[in-house]
Amino acid sequence: MEARSFEDVLEGWDGIGAVVRYDRPSGTWIFVALHDDTRGRPVGGCRMKVYETPAAGLLDATRLARGMTHKWASIDFDFGGGKAVLAVPHPMEGEARAGLLRRFGRFLNTLQGAYATGEDMGTTPEDMRVIAGETEWVMGVSRDDPEPPADPGPFTALGVLAGIEAAMAHLDGGAGLEGTSVLIQGAGDVGAPLARLLADAGARVLVADLDEERAAAVAGEVGGEVVAPEAVYATECHVFAPCAVGAVLNRSTIPLLRCRIVAGSANNQLEEDEDAERLRERGILYAPDYVVNAGGAMAFGLINKGLTAREEIEARVRRLGESLTEIFAEADRGEETPLAAARRKVEAMLAGASGAG
Ligand code: NAD
Repeated sequence: MEARSFEDVLEGWDGIGAVVRYDRPSGTWIFVALHDDTRGRPVGGCRMKVYETPAAGLLDATRLARGMTHKWASIDFDFGGGKAVLAVPHPMEGEARAGLLRRFGRFLNTLQGAYATGEDMGTTPEDMRVIAGETEWVMGVSRDDPEPPADPGPFTALGVLAGIEAAMAHLDGGAGLEGTSVLIQGAGDVGAPLARLLADAGARVLVADLDEERAAAVAGEVGGEVVAPEAVYATECHVFAPCAVGAVLNRSTIPLLRCRIVAGSANNQLEEDEDAERLRERGILYAPDYVVNAGGAMAFGLINKGLTAREEIEARVRRLGESLTEIFAEADRGEETPLAAARRKVEAMLAGASGAG
Protein backbone atom coordinates (compact mmCIF):
# COMPACT_ATOMS: atom_id res chain seq x y z
CA MET A 1 0.00 0.00 0.00
CA GLU A 2 1.46 3.33 -1.02
CA ALA A 3 1.19 6.38 1.22
CA ARG A 4 1.57 9.61 -0.71
CA SER A 5 1.10 12.14 2.07
CA PHE A 6 0.21 12.58 5.73
CA GLU A 7 -3.26 13.74 4.58
CA ASP A 8 -3.77 10.52 2.60
CA VAL A 9 -2.85 8.39 5.58
CA LEU A 10 -5.01 10.18 8.13
CA GLU A 11 -8.04 10.52 5.84
CA GLY A 12 -8.02 6.75 5.37
CA TRP A 13 -7.66 5.88 9.06
CA ASP A 14 -10.27 5.37 11.76
CA GLY A 15 -8.07 6.18 14.79
CA ILE A 16 -8.25 8.86 17.47
CA GLY A 17 -5.34 10.81 16.03
CA ALA A 18 -1.61 10.97 15.58
CA VAL A 19 1.06 13.12 17.22
CA VAL A 20 3.92 14.06 14.93
CA ARG A 21 7.30 15.53 15.74
CA TYR A 22 10.39 16.12 13.64
CA ASP A 23 13.54 15.43 15.65
CA ARG A 24 15.99 17.88 14.10
CA PRO A 25 19.28 16.63 15.65
CA SER A 26 18.80 13.15 14.15
CA GLY A 27 16.58 13.95 11.16
CA THR A 28 13.98 11.50 12.48
CA TRP A 29 10.21 11.75 12.09
CA ILE A 30 8.54 10.62 15.31
CA PHE A 31 4.95 9.40 15.02
CA VAL A 32 2.72 8.37 17.89
CA ALA A 33 -0.52 6.90 16.55
CA LEU A 34 -3.43 6.62 18.99
CA HIS A 35 -6.09 4.32 17.56
CA ASP A 36 -8.62 3.55 20.28
CA ASP A 37 -8.98 4.12 24.04
CA THR A 38 -12.31 2.36 24.65
CA ARG A 39 -10.69 -0.15 27.00
CA GLY A 40 -7.90 2.01 28.39
CA ARG A 41 -4.73 3.95 27.65
CA PRO A 42 -3.26 3.29 24.18
CA VAL A 43 -0.21 1.04 24.63
CA GLY A 44 2.05 -0.48 21.98
CA GLY A 45 5.65 -0.83 20.94
CA CYS A 46 8.03 1.60 19.30
CA ARG A 47 9.36 0.66 15.86
CA MET A 48 12.62 2.15 14.57
CA LYS A 49 13.05 1.85 10.83
CA VAL A 50 14.25 3.60 7.68
CA TYR A 51 11.20 4.29 5.46
CA GLU A 52 11.10 5.46 1.87
CA THR A 53 9.06 8.51 2.87
CA PRO A 54 7.85 10.01 6.16
CA ALA A 55 4.26 9.25 5.07
CA ALA A 56 5.16 5.54 4.85
CA GLY A 57 6.30 5.73 8.48
CA LEU A 58 3.03 7.37 9.54
CA LEU A 59 1.07 4.73 7.60
CA ASP A 60 2.94 1.96 9.40
CA ALA A 61 2.25 3.61 12.79
CA THR A 62 -1.48 3.91 12.09
CA ARG A 63 -1.83 0.31 10.86
CA LEU A 64 0.19 -1.03 13.78
CA ALA A 65 -1.86 1.01 16.28
CA ARG A 66 -5.08 -0.47 14.92
CA GLY A 67 -3.53 -3.93 15.30
CA MET A 68 -2.80 -3.15 18.96
CA THR A 69 -6.47 -2.28 19.59
CA HIS A 70 -7.41 -5.69 18.23
CA LYS A 71 -4.60 -7.45 20.06
CA TRP A 72 -5.41 -6.06 23.54
CA ALA A 73 -9.13 -6.72 23.07
CA SER A 74 -8.56 -10.24 21.78
CA ILE A 75 -6.61 -11.16 24.94
CA ASP A 76 -9.01 -9.19 27.15
CA PHE A 77 -6.55 -6.62 28.53
CA ASP A 78 -7.71 -3.16 29.49
CA PHE A 79 -5.42 -1.18 27.22
CA GLY A 80 -6.17 0.70 24.02
CA GLY A 81 -4.38 0.61 20.68
CA GLY A 82 -1.33 2.79 20.12
CA LYS A 83 2.06 2.57 18.46
CA ALA A 84 5.12 4.76 17.92
CA VAL A 85 7.37 4.88 14.89
CA LEU A 86 10.81 6.47 14.81
CA ALA A 87 11.34 6.94 11.08
CA VAL A 88 15.13 7.36 11.09
CA PRO A 89 17.01 8.63 8.01
CA HIS A 90 19.60 5.84 8.34
CA PRO A 91 20.41 3.08 10.85
CA MET A 92 21.35 4.74 14.12
CA GLU A 93 23.86 3.53 16.70
CA GLY A 94 25.82 4.75 19.73
CA GLU A 95 25.32 8.21 21.15
CA ALA A 96 23.17 9.36 18.20
CA ARG A 97 20.72 6.53 18.92
CA ALA A 98 20.74 7.11 22.68
CA GLY A 99 20.16 10.85 22.17
CA LEU A 100 17.17 10.19 19.92
CA LEU A 101 15.71 7.71 22.43
CA ARG A 102 16.16 10.15 25.32
CA ARG A 103 14.41 12.92 23.37
CA PHE A 104 11.63 10.46 22.47
CA GLY A 105 11.26 9.67 26.19
CA ARG A 106 10.95 13.37 27.05
CA PHE A 107 8.46 13.78 24.20
CA LEU A 108 6.32 11.03 25.79
CA ASN A 109 6.28 13.06 29.00
CA THR A 110 4.57 15.90 27.15
CA LEU A 111 1.79 13.45 26.20
CA GLN A 112 1.19 12.94 29.94
CA GLY A 113 0.27 9.27 29.76
CA ALA A 114 -1.88 9.41 26.64
CA TYR A 115 0.35 6.59 25.31
CA ALA A 116 2.84 4.09 26.81
CA THR A 117 5.55 2.48 24.71
CA GLY A 118 7.55 -0.76 24.56
CA GLU A 119 9.82 -2.75 22.28
CA ASP A 120 9.04 -3.48 18.64
CA MET A 121 10.97 -4.29 15.48
CA GLY A 122 14.15 -2.23 15.38
CA THR A 123 14.24 -1.45 19.10
CA THR A 124 15.77 -3.49 21.92
CA PRO A 125 15.30 -4.05 25.66
CA GLU A 126 18.34 -1.80 26.18
CA ASP A 127 16.65 0.96 24.14
CA MET A 128 13.65 0.69 26.47
CA ARG A 129 15.96 1.24 29.42
CA VAL A 130 17.33 4.41 27.82
CA ILE A 131 13.81 5.73 27.19
CA ALA A 132 12.78 4.79 30.74
CA GLY A 133 15.58 7.01 32.03
CA GLU A 134 13.46 9.96 30.88
CA THR A 135 9.87 8.85 31.30
CA GLU A 136 7.62 6.50 33.24
CA TRP A 137 5.63 5.73 30.07
CA VAL A 138 7.47 2.52 29.10
CA MET A 139 5.86 -0.89 29.67
CA GLY A 140 7.67 -3.35 31.91
CA VAL A 141 10.63 -1.15 32.89
CA SER A 142 11.24 1.79 35.20
CA ARG A 143 14.26 4.02 35.71
CA ASP A 144 14.98 2.30 39.04
CA ASP A 145 15.09 -1.25 37.62
CA PRO A 146 18.55 -2.75 38.16
CA GLU A 147 17.92 -5.42 35.51
CA PRO A 148 17.48 -4.85 31.80
CA PRO A 149 13.82 -5.32 30.87
CA ALA A 150 12.62 -8.72 29.68
CA ASP A 151 12.71 -9.45 25.97
CA PRO A 152 9.20 -9.97 24.56
CA GLY A 153 10.48 -12.03 21.59
CA PRO A 154 10.63 -15.43 23.35
CA PHE A 155 7.13 -14.94 24.78
CA THR A 156 5.81 -14.04 21.35
CA ALA A 157 7.56 -17.11 19.93
CA LEU A 158 5.92 -19.31 22.56
CA GLY A 159 2.50 -17.97 21.58
CA VAL A 160 3.24 -18.65 17.90
CA LEU A 161 4.29 -22.20 18.78
CA ALA A 162 0.98 -22.70 20.62
CA GLY A 163 -0.83 -21.28 17.59
CA ILE A 164 0.94 -23.63 15.18
CA GLU A 165 0.10 -26.58 17.41
CA ALA A 166 -3.55 -25.48 17.56
CA ALA A 167 -3.72 -25.08 13.78
CA MET A 168 -2.16 -28.51 13.14
CA ALA A 169 -4.54 -30.10 15.64
CA HIS A 170 -7.48 -28.35 13.97
CA LEU A 171 -6.56 -29.80 10.58
CA ASP A 172 -5.39 -33.25 11.59
CA GLY A 173 -6.86 -33.77 15.06
CA GLY A 174 -3.51 -35.11 16.21
CA ALA A 175 -1.14 -33.75 18.80
CA GLY A 176 2.51 -32.79 18.44
CA LEU A 177 4.68 -31.37 15.68
CA GLU A 178 6.93 -34.35 15.03
CA GLY A 179 7.84 -34.28 11.34
CA THR A 180 5.95 -31.04 10.62
CA SER A 181 7.91 -28.66 8.37
CA VAL A 182 7.79 -25.00 9.35
CA LEU A 183 9.27 -22.22 7.22
CA ILE A 184 10.21 -19.17 9.29
CA GLN A 185 10.55 -15.89 7.39
CA GLY A 186 12.77 -13.67 9.56
CA ALA A 187 15.15 -15.17 12.10
CA GLY A 188 15.12 -12.22 14.52
CA ASP A 189 13.90 -11.63 18.03
CA VAL A 190 10.88 -13.87 17.50
CA GLY A 191 11.98 -16.11 14.61
CA ALA A 192 15.15 -17.37 16.32
CA PRO A 193 13.52 -18.51 19.58
CA LEU A 194 10.62 -19.92 17.54
CA ALA A 195 13.10 -22.03 15.56
CA ARG A 196 14.48 -23.45 18.82
CA LEU A 197 11.03 -24.22 20.23
CA LEU A 198 9.97 -25.92 17.00
CA ALA A 199 13.12 -28.00 16.81
CA ASP A 200 12.61 -29.07 20.42
CA ALA A 201 9.07 -30.15 19.47
CA GLY A 202 10.44 -32.33 16.67
CA ALA A 203 9.54 -30.09 13.74
CA ARG A 204 11.69 -29.70 10.62
CA VAL A 205 12.74 -26.04 10.53
CA LEU A 206 13.37 -23.99 7.38
CA VAL A 207 14.77 -20.49 7.81
CA ALA A 208 14.87 -17.47 5.49
CA ASP A 209 16.34 -14.08 6.34
CA LEU A 210 17.62 -11.15 4.29
CA ASP A 211 20.63 -11.40 6.57
CA GLU A 212 22.20 -14.59 5.20
CA GLU A 213 24.56 -15.05 8.14
CA ARG A 214 21.69 -14.86 10.59
CA ALA A 215 19.66 -17.40 8.62
CA ALA A 216 22.63 -19.77 8.46
CA ALA A 217 23.39 -19.38 12.18
CA VAL A 218 19.82 -20.10 13.29
CA ALA A 219 19.33 -22.97 10.83
CA GLY A 220 22.68 -24.44 11.89
CA GLU A 221 21.80 -24.20 15.57
CA VAL A 222 18.55 -26.17 15.18
CA GLY A 223 19.69 -28.62 12.48
CA GLY A 224 17.44 -26.87 9.96
CA GLU A 225 17.81 -25.66 6.38
CA VAL A 226 18.25 -22.22 4.85
CA VAL A 227 15.79 -21.02 2.22
CA ALA A 228 16.62 -18.02 0.01
CA PRO A 229 14.41 -15.02 0.89
CA GLU A 230 13.02 -14.79 -2.65
CA ALA A 231 12.09 -18.50 -2.65
CA VAL A 232 10.00 -18.34 0.51
CA TYR A 233 6.50 -18.22 -0.95
CA ALA A 234 6.92 -21.11 -3.39
CA THR A 235 8.71 -23.43 -0.96
CA GLU A 236 6.70 -26.46 0.09
CA CYS A 237 6.10 -26.75 3.85
CA HIS A 238 3.29 -27.57 6.25
CA VAL A 239 3.41 -24.20 8.00
CA PHE A 240 4.55 -20.81 6.77
CA ALA A 241 5.49 -18.56 9.71
CA PRO A 242 5.96 -14.92 8.65
CA CYS A 243 8.16 -13.36 11.37
CA ALA A 244 9.60 -10.35 9.55
CA VAL A 245 7.65 -7.61 7.80
CA GLY A 246 3.96 -6.92 7.07
CA ALA A 247 1.86 -7.26 3.89
CA VAL A 248 3.59 -10.51 2.86
CA LEU A 249 0.21 -12.16 2.18
CA ASN A 250 -1.30 -10.51 -0.87
CA ARG A 251 -2.80 -11.17 -4.29
CA SER A 252 0.68 -11.89 -5.73
CA THR A 253 2.08 -14.17 -3.04
CA ILE A 254 -1.02 -16.18 -1.99
CA PRO A 255 -1.31 -18.05 -5.31
CA LEU A 256 2.32 -19.18 -4.89
CA LEU A 257 1.99 -20.62 -1.39
CA ARG A 258 2.52 -24.36 -0.96
CA CYS A 259 1.61 -24.65 2.73
CA ARG A 260 -1.47 -25.71 4.70
CA ILE A 261 -1.18 -23.17 7.51
CA VAL A 262 0.02 -19.59 7.91
CA ALA A 263 0.87 -18.72 11.51
CA GLY A 264 3.60 -16.26 12.42
CA SER A 265 4.48 -13.22 14.48
CA ALA A 266 4.64 -10.46 11.87
CA ASN A 267 2.13 -7.66 12.35
CA ASN A 268 -0.27 -6.82 9.52
CA GLN A 269 0.56 -9.89 7.46
CA LEU A 270 -2.41 -9.37 5.15
CA GLU A 271 -1.99 -6.54 2.67
CA GLU A 272 -5.80 -6.14 2.68
CA ASP A 273 -8.66 -7.92 4.47
CA GLU A 274 -9.68 -9.69 1.23
CA ASP A 275 -6.43 -11.69 1.50
CA ALA A 276 -8.01 -13.70 4.33
CA GLU A 277 -10.67 -14.88 1.85
CA ARG A 278 -7.99 -15.60 -0.77
CA LEU A 279 -6.23 -17.87 1.73
CA ARG A 280 -9.49 -19.64 2.60
CA GLU A 281 -10.23 -20.21 -1.08
CA ARG A 282 -6.85 -21.88 -1.38
CA GLY A 283 -7.63 -24.12 1.61
CA ILE A 284 -4.91 -22.52 3.74
CA LEU A 285 -5.70 -22.06 7.44
CA TYR A 286 -4.71 -18.56 8.58
CA ALA A 287 -4.06 -17.75 12.25
CA PRO A 288 -5.00 -14.05 12.59
CA ASP A 289 -1.77 -12.20 13.30
CA TYR A 290 -2.93 -10.10 16.23
CA VAL A 291 -4.08 -13.21 18.09
CA VAL A 292 -1.18 -15.56 17.38
CA ASN A 293 1.46 -12.86 18.00
CA ALA A 294 -0.01 -11.56 21.26
CA GLY A 295 2.38 -13.48 23.56
CA GLY A 296 4.87 -10.64 24.09
CA ALA A 297 2.14 -8.06 24.70
CA MET A 298 0.42 -10.43 27.08
CA ALA A 299 3.63 -11.10 29.02
CA PHE A 300 4.32 -7.38 29.39
CA GLY A 301 0.72 -6.70 30.36
CA LEU A 302 1.01 -9.34 33.08
CA ILE A 303 4.41 -8.05 34.27
CA ASN A 304 2.88 -4.57 34.39
CA LYS A 305 0.18 -5.97 36.69
CA GLY A 306 2.85 -7.37 39.02
CA LEU A 307 3.02 -11.01 37.86
CA THR A 308 6.67 -12.04 37.79
CA ALA A 309 6.68 -15.88 37.87
CA ARG A 310 7.90 -16.90 34.43
CA GLU A 311 6.10 -20.27 34.45
CA GLU A 312 2.77 -18.57 35.14
CA ILE A 313 3.32 -16.03 32.39
CA GLU A 314 4.29 -18.78 29.96
CA ALA A 315 1.21 -20.81 30.88
CA ARG A 316 -0.99 -17.80 30.12
CA VAL A 317 0.79 -17.23 26.80
CA ARG A 318 0.36 -20.88 25.83
CA ARG A 319 -3.39 -20.45 26.23
CA LEU A 320 -3.37 -18.39 23.05
CA GLY A 321 -3.53 -21.81 21.39
CA GLU A 322 -6.96 -22.37 22.98
CA SER A 323 -8.20 -18.97 21.74
CA LEU A 324 -7.14 -19.94 18.23
CA THR A 325 -8.80 -23.35 18.50
CA GLU A 326 -12.07 -21.54 19.29
CA ILE A 327 -11.57 -19.07 16.45
CA PHE A 328 -10.88 -21.86 13.92
CA ALA A 329 -13.95 -23.81 15.07
CA GLU A 330 -16.18 -20.75 14.90
CA ALA A 331 -14.89 -19.91 11.43
CA ASP A 332 -15.72 -23.44 10.28
CA ARG A 333 -19.21 -23.25 11.77
CA GLY A 334 -19.89 -19.91 10.10
CA GLU A 335 -18.17 -20.90 6.84
CA GLU A 336 -16.09 -17.77 7.14
CA THR A 337 -12.43 -16.85 7.56
CA PRO A 338 -10.67 -17.04 10.93
CA LEU A 339 -10.08 -13.30 10.52
CA ALA A 340 -13.85 -12.66 10.44
CA ALA A 341 -14.38 -14.87 13.52
CA ALA A 342 -11.53 -13.12 15.39
CA ARG A 343 -12.84 -9.70 14.46
CA ARG A 344 -16.30 -10.48 15.81
CA LYS A 345 -14.73 -11.48 19.10
CA VAL A 346 -12.78 -8.21 19.21
CA GLU A 347 -15.87 -6.15 18.42
CA ALA A 348 -17.77 -7.87 21.24
CA MET A 349 -14.86 -7.15 23.60
CA LEU A 350 -14.77 -3.48 22.58
CA ALA A 351 -18.53 -3.20 23.00
CA GLY A 352 -18.22 -4.77 26.48
CA ALA A 353 -15.39 -2.26 27.22
CA SER A 354 -13.62 -3.16 30.47
CA GLY A 355 -11.01 -5.95 30.37
CA ALA A 356 -10.19 -8.67 32.87
CA GLY A 357 -6.45 -8.64 32.18
P1 NAD B 1 13.60 -8.40 14.36
O1 NAD B 1 13.94 -7.08 13.78
O2 NAD B 1 14.31 -8.87 15.57
O3 NAD B 1 13.76 -9.55 13.26
C1 NAD B 1 13.24 -9.46 11.97
C2 NAD B 1 14.13 -10.31 11.06
O4 NAD B 1 13.49 -10.37 9.78
C3 NAD B 1 15.52 -9.73 10.84
O5 NAD B 1 16.48 -10.76 11.04
C4 NAD B 1 15.49 -9.25 9.38
O6 NAD B 1 16.76 -9.37 8.74
C5 NAD B 1 14.49 -10.20 8.77
N1 NAD B 1 13.80 -9.73 7.57
C6 NAD B 1 13.32 -8.48 7.31
N2 NAD B 1 12.70 -8.47 6.13
C7 NAD B 1 12.77 -9.73 5.64
C8 NAD B 1 12.30 -10.35 4.45
N3 NAD B 1 11.63 -9.67 3.53
N4 NAD B 1 12.58 -11.67 4.27
C9 NAD B 1 13.25 -12.38 5.19
N5 NAD B 1 13.72 -11.83 6.35
C10 NAD B 1 13.48 -10.53 6.56
O7 NAD B 1 12.00 -8.35 14.60
P2 NAD B 1 11.14 -9.21 15.62
O8 NAD B 1 11.06 -8.52 16.92
O9 NAD B 1 11.58 -10.63 15.54
O10 NAD B 1 9.69 -9.07 14.98
C11 NAD B 1 9.35 -9.74 13.78
C12 NAD B 1 7.89 -9.41 13.42
O11 NAD B 1 7.04 -9.82 14.48
C13 NAD B 1 7.61 -7.93 13.22
O12 NAD B 1 6.59 -7.77 12.25
C14 NAD B 1 7.08 -7.48 14.58
O13 NAD B 1 6.26 -6.33 14.49
C15 NAD B 1 6.29 -8.70 14.95
N6 NAD B 1 6.08 -8.84 16.38
C16 NAD B 1 7.14 -8.94 17.21
C17 NAD B 1 6.93 -9.11 18.56
C18 NAD B 1 8.09 -9.25 19.53
O14 NAD B 1 7.86 -9.71 20.66
N7 NAD B 1 9.32 -8.94 19.14
C19 NAD B 1 5.62 -9.16 19.07
C20 NAD B 1 4.55 -9.08 18.18
C21 NAD B 1 4.79 -8.92 16.84
